[in-house]
Amino acid sequence: MNADLHCHSVVSDGTLTPEELAERAAGNGVELWALTDHDEIGGQHRAAAAARANGMKYLTGTEISVTFAGETVHIVGLGFDAGDTRMLEGLTATRGGREARAREMAAQLAQVGIPGAYEGALKYVGNPELISRTHFARFLVEVGACKDTPEVFRKYLTEGKPGYVPHRWASLKDAVQWITLGGGIAVIAHPARYKFTANEEYALFSEFKAHGGRGVEVVTGSHTAAEATRYAGTAKEFGLAASRGSDFHSPDESHTDLGKLPPLPEGLTPVWELLADRIR
Ligand code: AMP
Ligand code: MN
Ligand code: MN
Ligand code: MN
Repeated sequence: MNADLHCHSVVSDGTLTPEELAERAAGNGVELWALTDHDEIGGQHRAAAAARANGMKYLTGTEISVTFAGETVHIVGLGFDAGDTRMLEGLTATRGGREARAREMAAQLAQVGIPGAYEGALKYVGNPELISRTHFARFLVEVGACKDTPEVFRKYLTEGKPGYVPHRWASLKDAVQWITLGGGIAVIAHPARYKFTANEEYALFSEFKAHGGRGVEVVTGSHTAAEATRYAGTAKEFGLAASRGSDFHSPDESHTDLGKLPPLPEGLTPVWELLADRIR
C-alpha cells in the first residue's frame, strides 16, 4: 500500500492547493492519502473530494503543535471526525497566538537589519490564521538574507537566533484527546527531529501512550534510513502502530516528494490497518 499520511497545503505552510497536492500524490502512485495541515482542518473537505476525483482513498488529517518538556512536538491526527467541535475549538485556540508571535518575530528581525518581515511573510500566507515560520523563511530567501530555507533555520527563527519567539502550544493530553474523541488515531510526528534526552523521549512516548496515543511516524521525509530503523524499534517497544508520510510542503523546498518514500520496515502494524473503518 502506497500510503502518504503527512503533507501541507496553502491552508497552512505548503505552497500547493489541496487539489494540486491530490493530483501530484495520485500521479506519484499514492493509494491512501491524508492532508495534515498545521493546527488546521479547513482543507479537509477539498482534500477528500480531490482524493476521490483522483482515485485515492482518504483519511482526515492534521498536525497539531504541542509543547512538551519545553520543546515543540508535532502530533499528527488521522481518521478523526472533521466536524467534531472539540477538535475545531481546540485547533482554533492553538492557532490563536500565531499573529502576536509573528509580530514579535518581525520586530526581532528588524533589529538585525531586516525590516518589513511581517508584511513580507504575509505575502506567502494562504490562511490569515496560520502565519508560520515557514512564511518568514520564504521572505528571508526572497530578500536575499539566506539562499534557501534550511539556511534560514540555521541562522534565524530557531532558539538563540534572531526571530525566535518561544510559544506555548497545545498540551500533549489535549491534542491526543481531540483526535481520539473524534474516532481518530494520534501519531507522534518525525520523532528523530526533537532535541530530547533519552529520558525526555521516554517520557514523551510513555505519556503519549497513557493519554491514548497509538502511532508513531517511522518512515517520513525527515528521517534517514537509520532513524526509521531506530523508531521501528521504538514502535515495537511501546506497542505503537507505524505511520508513513513525506511531510511534503513545496516542489521547490521539499526533498521528499509525495508517495516517494521507502516502505515501512517489516514486523510493524501500519496505522492504516487500525483505521480501516475510517478510510473514505
Ligand atoms: P511554526 O509552526 O510556525 O513554528 O513553523 C514550523 C514549520 O517550520 C515546520 O512545520 C516546518 O515546515 C518549518 N521548519 C522548522 N524547522 C525547519 C528546518 N530546520 N528546515 C526547514 N523547515 C523547517
Ligand atoms: Mn510545516
Ligand atoms: Mn512537523
Ligand atoms: Mn508537517
